[in-house]
Amino acid sequence: MQHLASFLGGRWLEGQGAGQQLFNPATEEPVALAASEGLDLAAALDYGRNTGGPALRALSFAERGVLLKGMADALQGARDDLLELGIRNCGNTRSDAKFDVDGAIATLLAYAELGTQLGAGRFLVDGEGLQLGRSPRFHGQHVSVPRHGVAVHINAFNFPAWGMAEKAAAALLAGMPVLSKPATATAMLAQRAMQVIVERKVLPEGALQLLVGAPRDLPALLGAQDVLAFTGSGDTGERLRALPNVIRHSVRVNVEADSLNAAVLGPDAGASGDLYELFLKEVVRDVTQKAGQKCTAIRRVLVPAEHAATVRDDLAGLLGNLKVGNPADEDVRMGPLTNAAQLADVRDGVEKLGAEGKLVLGGSNAVFPKGYFLSPTLFEFAPGAAADAVHAREVFGPVVSLLPYTTAPAALVAKGGGGLVCSLYSEDAAWLEGAVAGIAPFHGRIYIGHPKVELSPGPGTVLPQLVHGGPGRAGGGEELGGQRALAFYLQRVALQGSRPLVQGLAKAGTPG
Ligand code: NAP
Repeated sequence: MQHLASFLGGRWLEGQGAGQQLFNPATEEPVALAASEGLDLAAALDYGRNTGGPALRALSFAERGVLLKGMADALQGARDDLLELGIRNCGNTRSDAKFDVDGAIATLLAYAELGTQLGAGRFLVDGEGLQLGRSPRFHGQHVSVPRHGVAVHINAFNFPAWGMAEKAAAALLAGMPVLSKPATATAMLAQRAMQVIVERKVLPEGALQLLVGAPRDLPALLGAQDVLAFTGSGDTGERLRALPNVIRHSVRVNVEADSLNAAVLGPDAGASGDLYELFLKEVVRDVTQKAGQKCTAIRRVLVPAEHAATVRDDLAGLLGNLKVGNPADEDVRMGPLTNAAQLADVRDGVEKLGAEGKLVLGGSNAVFPKGYFLSPTLFEFAPGAAADAVHAREVFGPVVSLLPYTTAPAALVAKGGGGLVCSLYSEDAAWLEGAVAGIAPFHGRIYIGHPKVELSPGPGTVLPQLVHGGPGRAGGGEELGGQRALAFYLQRVALQGSRPLVQGLAKAGTPG
């Protein structure tokens, strides 16, 4: 059995204790063990603060961008190996694994390019300088400088490569060292990614560390200059925010949590034609890609009531035809859920939805004697039906609910309490304007599906240029969004004083 080591303090270290077993979710075979007992987490944080931080801050944005390019090259060089681990430890089909690994590489490259654009500066100059009084000598300028702490990243099980890379890209480019903690269930892939980055020696000492296994008291060790970025369940996010040290030291916390993403078929889209076909294709992809274990997956499908029966039959036909099985088999289109706990949680969610809606397809019955499989599952609801669970319970699997609407759908969408993404399928500009006005305040991103937009990856793909996050239930956080991502890792400070001196100080941010 492979014991997964952590990379802390510049060394690979194995934790002690019983640890946690990792499985192949398609076969239930144990594949590795992760333990973190005995590892000195306080020392690791200090190593990041005292060794990684100064090394990164001494570099320009362009030089930090080169580091990110090196990380991307390292992952690219080990891509086949990483895809294999996605299949074996995460239950991914090859296509799902590519989504994770290629997403990681693409995001690192996007931030490497941003580093090149930001150039020789080491901090950001924020806006124009300002004359502050009657005298032009009295001058002000905002700048944003890297914090002197560590960025602790706690990631979810569904994107072990992309989750680690997208958070690390922003922090490293901003000039903050990272301690990354992947979810234990799928940590094999994250650990291998770290191995290849370490082997290539692309980063300065202390810039990136990895903790594999239980987090223990890691978040409780954070101080005023540290930041914590978390992706996972709303419950854990709530616990982290309420930690006494987080409150006492105002530790910056970003939370990406649950989201009941909706897809809305506009009244003009009908139930045939290119736009309708795109809508069907994207709903099916989002429900089944990574077995529905995506924070951006479509959970609720809102359709004009007169088309509900057609949409139901079409979705049931497409979802029912999809081959479910061991993703090691090439013709399989959907693999299992990540582990036994997720399967139990999703089955419980299916029961709750079943108490309110009508099961059209799938359900919580076992699919195979072994493995954590669930069939694609579709529920339908009557117009105006009492549907509390459907707007409140994120069922993190290949499960989707069809909700007919008879009035403007924004209020129904907003019942989700805040989401990451909502997709709209309509070409009616006036309808879209009303829908966006009603839906935008509750979301981090709105995707407008159009059949003529070539090569669009659909609503479920998070792009490095656009923000990822959402209000309310979605955690209230924000990541990515190009340069916006750096703000979380930087301290904005106002410089105020004599104009030549303030301008001289700001110039260090944008030399040349
Ligand atoms: P989770 O328990 O919140 O775990 C997420 C991450 O937090 C993991 O790395 C986990 O480590 C860590 N963690 C758990 N408890 C912690 C604590 N007290 N202090 C510090 N770190 C802690 O979520 P999950 O069990 O993986 O997934 C549960 C549900 O979360 C899913 O069903 C889904 O609803 C939601 N989810 C959302 C997203 C998203 O992208 N928004 C992604 C995945 C899951 P260990 O793995 O070592 O426990």
